[in-house]
Amino acid sequence: MLDREGRSIEYLRLSITDRCNCRCVYCMPEGGVPMLAHDQILSFEELARIVRACAELGVRKVRLTGGEPLARRGVVDLVRMVAEVPGVEDVAMTTNACQLAPIAADLRAAGLGRLNVSLDTLRPERYAKITRCGRLADALAGIAAAREAGFARTKINAVLMGGVNDDEVADLAALAKDEPVDVRFIELMPIGPAAGWPRGRFLPADYVLGRLPAGAEPRGRDGVAELWHVPGWAGNVGLIRPMSHKFCDGCSRIRVMADGRCKPCLHSSAEVDLCGLEGEALLAALRGAIAAKPKYHHMDESHASESARDMNEIGG
Ligand code: SAM
Ligand code: SF4
Repeated sequence: MLDREGRSIEYLRLSITDRCNCRCVYCMPEGGVPMLAHDQILSFEELARIVRACAELGVRKVRLTGGEPLARRGVVDLVRMVAEVPGVEDVAMTTNACQLAPIAADLRAAGLGRLNVSLDTLRPERYAKITRCGRLADALAGIAAAREAGFARTKINAVLMGGVNDDEVADLAALAKDEPVDVRFIELMPIGPAAGWPRGRFLPADYVLGRLPAGAEPRGRDGVAELWHVPGWAGNVGLIRPMSHKFCDGCSRIRVMADGRCKPCLHSSAEVDLCGLEGEALLAALRGAIAAKPKYHHMDESHASESARDMNEIGG
């Protein structure tokens, strides 16, 4: 389905839980947030209904996110259910990978096509500090298990933070040297706890380019990422620049959160409640959400998101 700007909406980001085993400093407050009660979270049946309706409107790709999607009980069955929806061609997941190793093969067998793994540092102590609860060794074991399970071209996503991990750009990028992974640097966004952070933490992703080995050259786009390739490397380095080069023009996404509310845009306050809806009423609500997609976000001008939700609710 096309939105008012003529953008074709084909990509659903589905947050299947607001819970997480981590408390990343830019994503969740240290003390945690009140979590949704079990009965406030979309059931498998409701999730399937929403994915089917989205597919009917033209969605072809579904990304499971959270919170931490692997924290949702029955996640393997959920992947299978989504993969079986007619029209869905691609099921992906964004995860911190800490709980991935034991179930990577099951997820692959259930129909999960691709994985994005969030990894902001390669230093164990720094990892513990950024995630507050995570262990780097678990995340790396998850990435290795994904490779063994046959996931191809896993993407590593690192949020670039001045004074926190900017000294690791070269080391993180080098993960793409021997392995066919794309390492993508994401500009920190002023949302959730990061909304109040000092400006010095918000680095433009151009910063990365000066830290790549000589000879790095542009290699087109992959979705929202601009890719760069270093001759001889197995994978690519990507820049995701929502702040310095917003990509709203090509946005093909809608988001549904675990509480059943659809967000037409990550950074707008607009939400459409899908709870309890079926059939034509559900389709009409989704059409309304797509119609409510704003042309652009305004974070680059105002340095603020208009959404009051934390990222663990929205799913990124
Ligand atoms: N728990 C999973 C994970 O961390 O990959 C999925 C959910 S997480 C909310 C999705 C993505 O949002 C992660 O890559 C995370 O780094 C990113 N994220 C969270 N808060 C952010 C912020 N303020 N700015 C930029 N990216 C952010
Ligand atoms: Fe959890 Fe992901 Fe948020 Fe970190 S970024 S706290 S892993 S939801």
